[in-house]
Amino acid sequence: MSNIIDGKVVSAAVKDRVANEVKALGDKGVSVCLAVILVGDDPASKIYVANKKKACEQLGIISKEYVLPANTCQEDLLALVNQLNNDKTVNGILCQLPLPKGLDEKAVIAAISADKDVDAFHPVNVGKIMIGDYDFVPCTPAGIMEMLKYYNIDVNGKECVVIGRSNIVGKPMGMLLLHKNGTVTIAHSRTKDLKSVTSKADILVAAVGKANFVTADMVKDGAVVIDVGMNRNADGKLCGDVDFAAVEPKASYITPVPGGVGPMTIAMLMQNTLTAAKRQNNLD
Ligand code: NAP
Repeated sequence: MSNIIDGKVVSAAVKDRVANEVKALGDKGVSVCLAVILVGDDPASKIYVANKKKACEQLGIISKEYVLPANTCQEDLLALVNQLNNDKTVNGILCQLPLPKGLDEKAVIAAISADKDVDAFHPVNVGKIMIGDYDFVPCTPAGIMEMLKYYNIDVNGKECVVIGRSNIVGKPMGMLLLHKNGTVTIAHSRTKDLKSVTSKADILVAAVGKANFVTADMVKDGAVVIDVGMNRNADGKLCGDVDFAAVEPKASYITPVPGGVGPMTIAMLMQNTLTAAKRQNNLD
C-alpha cells in the first residue's frame, strides 16, 4: 500500500538547488564556506566529517577542517571557535559532537556565533524555532519537513506523533510540525501506553535509537511513517527504529533505512550554510 519516500532523490534535489545558488553567488564574487571542528578520533565522527567535506566539495562550498587532539582543553577549543566567529571568510561553523570527555559541549555550542550556527543548536536559534521565526533549523528535522513537502504530504490538521524528545531531533521536529498546523504529541520513555498514542498518528516520526522498536500494531492504517533511527542489527546491518517489513504494508508513505532520512541531514546542512552566507552578505 505504501509509497517509499526516497531520501536519495529528495536530497539530490536539495543539493542541486544549493549548488545552483552557490554558483550564482560565486558569479557575484561571494563565496560560501563551512568550518568543521573535529576533536579527538571517534571513528563515527570522522566518517560524518568526511561526508560533510565531500558534500561541500560537490556543491562548490569551501570546507575548512580543524582537527584537534582528544586532549584539547576547553580554553583552546573556545579560542578556535572565537577565531572562526571573527573570520569573515567563514560563513558556517560546526563542532562535531559528541566531544571527548572533559569538554563542555553546552559552552562550545553557546560560544558559536548564532549567525554561523548551521547546526541550529545555539540557544538563540533554538528559541527562534520555538517562536516560529527562524533561519536555521536542525538538519534532521529540516530534512524531514523537506521530504514531506516534496511528496506533497500536508501536515495541516494532522495528528502527528514524534517518539523521542532529544534537542537535536524530537523537540525541534515537534515544533516544525506544529508550525505547519499539525496536532503534535511528543512521546518519550515515560509515556504511558505508547501504542495507544502512536496508533492515533496520521504522521508518525520515530527518533528513538532502538532497532525494530515501532511494530505494525503501533501504526494506524494509512499513516505516514518517518524513521529517523540509525541502529545496527544483530548482523551489524544499518537499520532504523521501525520494523520496516511489517509496517510498510500498513503505511501510506514510509522512509527506508538506509536511503531515507539519513541522506537529508547533510543536504540540509549545506542548505543552512548557504543561508548563513546569504544572510551575512545581506542577500537573503
Ligand atoms: P536520543 O538523544 O538518545 O533520544 C532518544 C529518545 O527516545 C529519548 O527522548 C528517549 O526518551 C526516547 N526513548 C527511548 N526509549 C524509549 C521507549 N522505550 N519509549 C519511548 N521513547 C523512548 O537520540 P537522538 O539523538 O534523538 O537520535 C534518535 C535516533 O535517530 C538514533 O538512532 C540516532 O542515531 C538517529 N539519528 C539519525 C539521524 C539521521 O541523520 N538519520 C540524525 C540524528 C539522529 P527519554 O527522553 O525519556 O529518555
